[in-house]
Amino acid sequence: MIEDIDIDCPYCGEVNTLNVDVLAGNQQYTEDCKVCCQPIAIRLSADIENGVTHCVVEPENG
Ligand SMILES: [Zn+2]
Repeated sequence: MIEDIDIDCPYCGEVNTLNVDVLAGNQQYTEDCKVCCQPIAIRLSADIENGVTHCVVEPENG
């Protein structure tokens, strides 16, 4: 099950939409901002009943 969530880039502030597979549970990965192409470290909590319950984004090297 894929859930779309919107995050604000910690560098440029633009909204990026993430496609999160909530079946995968808690996740931590890096994705480049679609606007400024800088690496965003993403940590999120998800479960099948509630979808994405918590999401933290921060600069990769911050
Ligand atoms: Zn950005």
